Amino acid sequence: MVYDVVIIGAGPAGLAAGLYASRARLTTLIIEKESEGGQIKTTDEVANYPGSVRDASGPSLIERMVEQVDEFGAKRVLDEITSVELEGKIKVLKGSKEEYKAKTVIIATGAVPRPIGCPGEKELTGRGVSYCATCDAAFFEDLEVFVVGGGDSAVEEALYLTKFARKVTIIHRRDELRAAKSIQEKAFKNEKIEFMWDSVVTELKGEGILESMVVKNVKTGDQKEKSSQMKTMEPLEYSYLLVLTQPQSYLKE
Ligand SMILES: Cc1cc2nc3c(=O)[nH]c(=O)nc-3n(C[C@H](O)[C@H](O)[C@H](O)COP(=O)(O)OP(=O)(O)OC[C@H]3O[C@@H](n4cnc5c(N)ncnc54)[C@H](O)[C@@H]3O)c2cc1C
Repeated sequence: MVYDVVIIGAGPAGLAAGLYASRARLTTLIIEKESEGGQIKTTDEVANYPGSVRDASGPSLIERMVEQVDEFGAKRVLDEITSVELEGKIKVLKGSKEEYKAKTVIIATGAVPRPIGCPGEKELTGRGVSYCATCDAAFFEDLEVFVVGGGDSAVEEALYLTKFARKVTIIHRRDELRAAKSIQEKAFKNEKIEFMWDSVVTELKGEGILESMVVKNVKTGDQKEKSSQMKTMEPLEYSYLLVLTQPQSYLKE
């Protein structure tokens, strides 16, 4: 069968696209590799999604979105798309289980956290370690936040965080940023932003909450431990670590 529309990914974007396509009476297939919902299903509280009801959790919002696409007749399958041929009039998508054909393909593969890969990171995610500034910045009011990375998104997220945080320190493994010059200029002008150059986070420590992190200078090899003092709950002394997400763009590779 050749579908009018095939959507790769059933996060909020893929489900929204599926809703509109099937409502327009186009034959629509949504292909998801894990389970519907994407990143939002990992949160207990959806604070800022337009129209979401008070106390909506990620999973409850997604349940309703899935109901809606089903009501309008979109078909859903679980499969991972590993390659796509988009040149011809009929596009071909190869999945781990099957091959799919479509007149139009919507890629809504979203993003995944880009872990540092150091000890303690996994255990402390959501407990002082975050991957989403727009989701969590409001929790950082008056806190000290560390952002790992030096590209466009790291520096933009750091700038965004200055609206909430007391101080934002960008930890970057090189001695200069990779972000676009215009973004760099804004960061250098911002009094709340500091930089820790040539540095990588090698370990995150804490029992149930981020208590400290070990930062290594890659040029000198010096390591220092920075206490987060989250555990003591003293105002103005908490710190958070923000690690960035990356697009799931491996389809193109
Ligand atoms: C902890 C947390 C809290 C958040 N809180 C909020 C909030 O309160 N309000 C808000 O508006 N936003 C919030 N967000 C952000 C929100 O979750 C994202 O903006 C949203 O999920 C992005 O949707 P998306 O559909 O573009 O991508 P994603 O949610 O990343 O979904 C992409 C989907 O594509 C699938 N996929 C990827 N590759 C393939 C492939 N090759 N084949 C098949 N399927 C594939 C993935 O498995 C995934 O299900 C939060 C995010 C997090 C992590």
